[in-house]
Amino acid sequence: LGRFHSTTTATEASSSPSSDQTSPLRVPNLIGGSFVHSKSPSTIDVINPATQEVVSQVPLTTHDEFKAAVIAAKNAFQSWRNTPITTRQRVMLKLQDLIRRDKDKLALNITTEQGKTLKDAHGDVFRGLEVVEHACGMATLQMGEYVSNVAHGIDTYSIREPLGVCAGICPFNFPAMIPLWMFPIAVTCGNTFVLKPSEKDPGASVILAELAMEAGLPDGVLNIVHGTNDIVNAICDEEDIKAVSFVGSNMAGMHIYTRASAAGKRVQSNMGAKNHAIVMPDANIDATINALVAAGFGAAGQRCMALSTVVFVGDSKPWLNRLVQSAKALKVNSGTEPDADLGPVISKQSKERIHRLIQSGVESGAELVLDGRNIVVPGYENGNFVGPTILAGVRPDMECYKEEIFGPVLICMEADSFEEAISIVNRNKYGNGGSIFTTAGAAARKFQTEIECGQVGINVPIPVPLPFFSFTGNKASFAGDLNFYGNSIPFSKNFLIPDYIIARDGSILRVDVYVV
Ligand code: NAD
Repeated sequence: LGRFHSTTTATEASSSPSSDQTSPLRVPNLIGGSFVHSKSPSTIDVINPATQEVVSQVPLTTHDEFKAAVIAAKNAFQSWRNTPITTRQRVMLKLQDLIRRDKDKLALNITTEQGKTLKDAHGDVFRGLEVVEHACGMATLQMGEYVSNVAHGIDTYSIREPLGVCAGICPFNFPAMIPLWMFPIAVTCGNTFVLKPSEKDPGASVILAELAMEAGLPDGVLNIVHGTNDIVNAICDEEDIKAVSFVGSNMAGMHIYTRASAAGKRVQSNMGAKNHAIVMPDANIDATINALVAAGFGAAGQRCMALSTVVFVGDSKPWLNRLVQSAKALKVNSGTEPDADLGPVISKQSKERIHRLIQSGVESGAELVLDGRNIVVPGYENGNFVGPTILAGVRPDMECYKEEIFGPVLICMEADSFEEAISIVNRNKYGNGGSIFTTAGAAARKFQTEIECGQVGINVPIPVPLPFFSFTGNKASFAGDLNFYGNSIPFSKNFLIPDYIIARDGSILRVDVYVV
């Protein structure tokens, strides 16, 4: 169940019939409309993080195969760019329908390869689906500009043209959503695409590509090549690739941004995060604790928008105890188990890194008020589980604060004043997202004005904008000048503010909490 053979069409359509497959299955590339197995002898095991079962093997695609994918994309470009935009949109209309049809299959594949709970896996699919829906209205987004009579008898207009072959390099944490941030927008604009999924969980990309083909995407418009550093470097250097979308860690992201920019490409690079929540003493305590627990530990903290740091201001400091009690109640289990609140982290190496950062916090003087390191999940003793962990009394100079932990670990800090809390957040090198919990309109307004991060939530723990806005980010969390989706105009901040009413004295009368 949930093994790679869920993508039967991809394997059947490959040059090797599925009956020739040995177990575990090799993940095919997609080149020029055919799912083909790489001739590379080198593969990486795709491992189920809850069981250590080898789900499939992903090839380190050869340079010749990579070139074949680029040539296929280049050859498909002329006819695809001249295909009416309404036809391109209709492919997306069909694709969104097919994703809905196969959402359970996609979710099961994600849980099997990535580990997140089935509920989170459905969320992963759904958030990507919203980008496909957004691409269905591309014609409106493509409208140009026109000014008549800019000089005597001269009119000026601007039109949007596709670039050519574009490429996308994906992280492991959203195996459906991030590929769907990339190729639907690019191809509906008339570009063709080479996608490099994460080598840790490539299955969802292959299923999505199958669906895109079924939806009518012509051969060569979307291609997939698997691999790691070599294939990524080849993408950065390839003359025929005009633009690169990257989502992942800072180390890889800055390397790709630098290398691909030097080769003259447009690059958008969404990178790491350390998202803070500022908790004011006037906040609704129940709603705030629920939000912190969901956003800190959900998806095992492996979301770029996870709230990984809480700054308690003034009289909210004692709320730490409530936070610990709520975190203790979370159920850690395999993502396929219906009672799981959080599943395993992606790999043994990731678990070791998380343990090391927790230990470094302890050694530098933080208080480990909840320790999830020794958790054993019955029936899944080999899983990469880390239970909810809370480090309190953390200071900005500690490694556990400076580094992105990317696990179910909540860092807790204290500030005597709101100004001090804002200053802590703004001094952090990352600027992906941040939230404030308060019932005071004046504090909410000050936060939205002064906070230096891309996604801003007022009583919203994970303020991810819907696709008609761009997903942004600043400081070390983003490099480039065009953000993902939206209307492609770079924004410095997105605001998510729930349904509330501001009273005349500036206080907020009603506060809802919205977790995605
Ligand atoms: P990663 O950087 O390890 O891998 C991302 C991609 O880069 C993979 O396809 C990988 O093969 C490739 N890669 C990795 N190292 C490379 C190297 N040295 N040279 C060339 N290519 C390389 O990231 P990950 O661990 O898969 O994902 C987690 C990271 O992604 C976290 O830092 C998280 O914050 C970030 N992320 C950011 C956003 C955002 O929108 N800002 C969204 C999701 C995830």
